Amino acid sequence: MMIYEERESYDHCGVLGLSFTDEDCVYSLAHGIFHLQHRGQEYCGLALEDEGEIHAEAFRGLVSDSFTPEVLSLFKGKHGIAHTSLKDPQPFVLESRIGKFAIAFSGNIINAREIKEELMRKGFSFSSNYHVEILAKLVAQANNIKEGLESLPKKINGSYSIVLLADDGSLYAMRDPLGVKPFIAGASAKGVCVASESAALNGLGMKIIKDIEPGGIYLLRPTGISKISQVESERIAHCAFEYAYTARIDSVINSIPVATARNNLGASLAKDDDIEATVVAGVPMSGLGHALGYHKASEVPYGIVFDYNRYALGRSYIPPNQDERNRIARDKLYIVREAVRDQSIVLCDDSIVRGTQLVERVRELQETGAKEVHVRIGAPKLTFPCRHGISTRSKDELIGSDRTVEEIRKILGATTLKYNSVESFVQAIGIPADKLCLACWTGEYPS
Ligand code: SF4
Repeated sequence: MMIYEERESYDHCGVLGLSFTDEDCVYSLAHGIFHLQHRGQEYCGLALEDEGEIHAEAFRGLVSDSFTPEVLSLFKGKHGIAHTSLKDPQPFVLESRIGKFAIAFSGNIINAREIKEELMRKGFSFSSNYHVEILAKLVAQANNIKEGLESLPKKINGSYSIVLLADDGSLYAMRDPLGVKPFIAGASAKGVCVASESAALNGLGMKIIKDIEPGGIYLLRPTGISKISQVESERIAHCAFEYAYTARIDSVINSIPVATARNNLGASLAKDDDIEATVVAGVPMSGLGHALGYHKASEVPYGIVFDYNRYALGRSYIPPNQDERNRIARDKLYIVREAVRDQSIVLCDDSIVRGTQLVERVRELQETGAKEVHVRIGAPKLTFPCRHGISTRSKDELIGSDRTVEEIRKILGATTLKYNSVESFVQAIGIPADKLCLACWTGEYPS
């Protein structure tokens, strides 16, 4: 049973590619993509090559509900790709003059409409509004797959970590020249792997080889992974939000352990914090690393005030309204009353998007007898929506877009509220600002 966070924002996708020497990779594909479920919970899919044919399937639902042993027993193949998503079913399979291939990606094509209209003027027809179909048809215009992938940066404004499986079993991986979405390669005695996060490599018992370089195009063979082309990259812009929230805490992204970044963010919040608290706790799961960092850098004891009901039913749909979302959140996240009564609590979380969940958490703590609730947020105040794949759609949805910190504190009902500044956020991650996307906070979208 899959239990995951009830959150206000989600990444859209996770991707995985596997190439094994001797054995079927079917179960490993499902197992690996299960470890990327936190990146998207609405759809999941996989494609495998077997004797020159590609077999693909995508479902609406969680990996564990969809790819049961019975379903997986219908598949065969040593080479495959898999995907998990909030917005669309992937992989997409295309039969073209350069062969049949399956493609999946994590990211977002900002100029999708313009590209689609241009392709339609050239005579291409489309069966969906999904960006992955646009990607497939752009690749299929070229003389071969390598050239098709090389052509993408000239046409696409956006982010894309791509896995592509050809019908001869060749497996390709490409990361956009900005390197927005994480993408990493690994290996074991069985073969090689690329994945959105190293959490999938951990789950598969594989070792990290290296990050897929921005603009790099790679060919995966069971015996190794080799770069076959490098597209020019004028600016690197790794998504900074991955470190605060999106990625799993056991992942290492762009050589920075997410756990270290979150601990540093918590420590930064503790610096010069002049409150007298009796316990510091995190909102599970992505607030925990920040809380631990706060605790280590201060005299404040670490405690657990919220925990998960691990036997709560998982869900395979997005609840239609806020009341239903709140009810499910309460079923899953319960309060530890004895840890709360008469305490002055520092409550750490990764970010505030709409604020609806955090209002509930603060109210629950106060109704349970907390004397004070000091909210501390690892990421700076979110002000602008993401164009590269996070599911907040407009500025209006962000509580921080046109409100001061004090106005947000009043809405939350917290005793005090503090965010990391953009400068301290960058310092805690440990990557120079000119190699990060910080558009959530600055509004300067890299392109
Ligand atoms: S806008 Fe924010 S969430 Fe989107 S890529 Fe940039 S830092 Fe990441």
